Amino acid sequence: MKILVVEDEQKTGDFLKQGLTEAGFIVDLARDGIDGLHLATTETYDLAVLDVMLPSLDGWEILRRIRIQGLSLPVLFLTARDGIEDRVRGLEAGADDYLVKPFAFAELLARIRTLLRRQSKVREADFLQAADLQLDLIKRRATRSGRRIDLTAKEFTLLELLLRRKGEILPRSLIASMVWDMNFDSDSNVIDVAIRRLRAKVDDEFDRKLIRTVRGMGYVLEDSE
Ligand code: CA
Repeated sequence: MKILVVEDEQKTGDFLKQGLTEAGFIVDLARDGIDGLHLATTETYDLAVLDVMLPSLDGWEILRRIRIQGLSLPVLFLTARDGIEDRVRGLEAGADDYLVKPFAFAELLARIRTLLRRQSKVREADFLQAADLQLDLIKRRATRSGRRIDLTAKEFTLLELLLRRKGEILPRSLIASMVWDMNFDSDSNVIDVAIRRLRAKVDDEFDRKLIRTVRGMGYVLEDSE
């Protein structure tokens, strides 16, 4: 999942980028309204977090122009102001949610996840499953045969991708771009190392292996015998 953050306050911007990245999102950070609008209309995002008060273009104007272009990505506004007028104006302009600064990061994360779930037209399942492996997308928890598996945020994202595209061979380049937001570098073994670690947690103790290497092609998660 890819999120655009537009925030001019250096500290808040860095904090948001770091926190959301650690939570498993791919994050682009823009420091002013023009850059933010440019990214919003040239890249593809699942959600945008917009500060209201921004240099060059404020959050409302970004939102207005995003909507004019027919983009329906959910937008969450951040503002230091708590006036009822701002709230109404933001929601009328097509904002999906509104958070007043200062806010707790956990609150922001919960709102983002709610918006992302609401956005998918067909309500997304709360769980992804393959054989006895289950991924709880709400609690961000993995279990196999009912046993809890501790995963890092990246491992969770990687496993989520494999489960969503179950049965499909995923090339390393695709995994690199979707989980790490990086271009595939043939010298890099980041993907292989991450898959090995994931397998150690998900497959090693079980007879039935779910994650397979397809030589020269990539990786696939399969639940058929
Ligand atoms: Ca600001």
